[in-house]
Amino acid sequence: MRKDRIKKILVEHGAADHNLTSSVLKRLDNLPVENIIPDFPGQRHDFQDMDKETLRLIKFKGEVLKPCPGTRGYICCGYQILHVGTNCPLDCSYCILQAYFNQPSLRIFVNLEDELIRIGQIIDSHPDKIFRIGTGEFTDSLALDHVAGWSDILPHFFTARKNAVLELKTKTERIEGLLTSQYRDRIIVSWSLNSPYIVSKEEHGAPSIKKRLLAAKRCQAEGFTLGFHFDPMIQHPEWKEDYMRTIEMIDRFIDPKGIIWISLGCLRYMPALKSIIRRRHPGTHILDGEFVRGLDGKMRYFKPIRMEIYSFIGEVIKKWYNDPGLYLCMESDEIWHKSLGWSPENTDGLSLYLDKRVIEFFG
Ligand code: SF4
Repeated sequence: MRKDRIKKILVEHGAADHNLTSSVLKRLDNLPVENIIPDFPGQRHDFQDMDKETLRLIKFKGEVLKPCPGTRGYICCGYQILHVGTNCPLDCSYCILQAYFNQPSLRIFVNLEDELIRIGQIIDSHPDKIFRIGTGEFTDSLALDHVAGWSDILPHFFTARKNAVLELKTKTERIEGLLTSQYRDRIIVSWSLNSPYIVSKEEHGAPSIKKRLLAAKRCQAEGFTLGFHFDPMIQHPEWKEDYMRTIEMIDRFIDPKGIIWISLGCLRYMPALKSIIRRRHPGTHILDGEFVRGLDGKMRYFKPIRMEIYSFIGEVIKKWYNDPGLYLCMESDEIWHKSLGWSPENTDGLSLYLDKRVIEFFG
């Protein structure tokens, strides 16, 4: 995203004294700044849209590190989320944040550095546990990096630890900050990928697959470990050929030996998101298929459709490279077996599998 999409900055009471606030204000010193009182818990805003032109700097009072909210009945990867901000300047039609957050604006949590001291103590007091931590759950990990400077703060914290890795998940080409950082060890830069059709129709404001992969190629050449996430995979006319085009492009640009993992996940959404998608993205086709309510309450494709998608893409990827660290995001033991021919059985099993990949790649 261009800096000039942000039109103003709101600094919440309690946020002004933080270093991160000063550095953001310095980077965006041409924008109007307003000091405001924080929202009260549960406060609703009467915004018709997500107000992505306003940036709020906030002292976040909740848990900054928390486990990915897996659900009983599905196998979760056992990932931990580092909560650095919410919302994102891109505008994917399927974005789950449209329903999760009735609070508008791009939000950066400026007390991150204070929280890292506490998180460091947690990580260091469990030397036998591997912490796989990512920032890309409630925002894109790099879309606001040029504003927030996360790549100035996070890489050295993780490189210094032998039982943690940081995964920065993005759809952008915003790798400048990372490339100027001197740290590479224990950092995974990963890209969310889709078919070129879905990118052009549904991932508004996001770079093309080719641009993402060129950024990934650059990161790989500069010594970063890579990950890829095909999520959410969406059925559309000629989806097989179209997803294969993406995999062919990966082959063109990326050395598979440097990929720690590739995840697959099909479209899923909370029922409440449906009307929001229809209102915000009237031209979308993502809701055209038939959906069934899953064990977690989210709407998903029927099992045979999910299995067809995973088997097909899984086969193509494995034919390309036999050790891609392939895994499914939030699927059942049955779907794993029927799609990939094996299953980690449960969340502990998948965590172990991914921890082993971490050890293979980083020691
Ligand atoms: S990049 Fe991710 S966080 Fe940003 S709009 Fe798309 S789905 Fe949402």
